[in-house]
Amino acid sequence: MAPETSKIGDEMKTERKDIQPRCPHCEARIKELVVVKNGWFADHRVYCCPECEKIIGISSNFP
Ligand SMILES: [Zn+2]
Repeated sequence: MAPETSKIGDEMKTERKDIQPRCPHCEARIKELVVVKNGWFADHRVYCCPECEKIIGISSNFP
C-alpha cells in the first residue's frame, strides 16, 4: 500500500492570519505540529497533533 503523500507548504499561499489552527481530530488548538521520526516515518515527514497524536499530514522528504 503506497502511502498518501501531500505537499505541505508548496501550494499554500503565504498570507498570514492571526488564527490558531485546530486539530481535525480532537479540535485542540495546535501551536506546533509534532514531526515523527522513527522507523518508516524517518523517510517521510509525518506531522502529528501533540494532543491526540493522530497524523495530520505526511510529506515526502525531498532534498
Ligand atoms: Zn488532535
